[in-house]
Amino acid sequence: MDKKISRRTVLLRAVQIPVGGSILFGLSACGSDSGNSTAMLCADPSQMTSAQESVRRTLRYTEVSPDPAKVCSGCDFFHAGSEAGGCGTCEMFTGNPVNPGGYCDSWSVDA
Ligand code: SF4
Repeated sequence: MDKKISRRTVLLRAVQIPVGGSILFGLSACGSDSGNSTAMLCADPSQMTSAQESVRRTLRYTEVSPDPAKVCSGCDFFHAGSEAGGCGTCEMFTGNPVNPGGYCDSWSVDA
């Protein structure tokens, strides 16, 4: 068998495996009662329209902020959910769910 695999295929696979693993990890953490808000998955890509997903990608939304001082729960666009410490919503994402421990490039606080 002399089947060649293109460089592009190898690179795509290299990206798909960590992304798929991250999604599965996030889903497994969903609904857990650990009390750790950064472990929750609030934004399920399978439940979004392509436009919603595009906005999140453009603003580089992440369920876990790389900077503990800049998290969604401290952002002016965030609205807390009904459950303390649970998923909230974001005005930038037309009221769709975000993680209180998440972050995106539009993080903002009025001084
Ligand atoms: S604008 Fe970004 S940082 Fe602010 S609540 Fe929405 S997703 Fe979080």
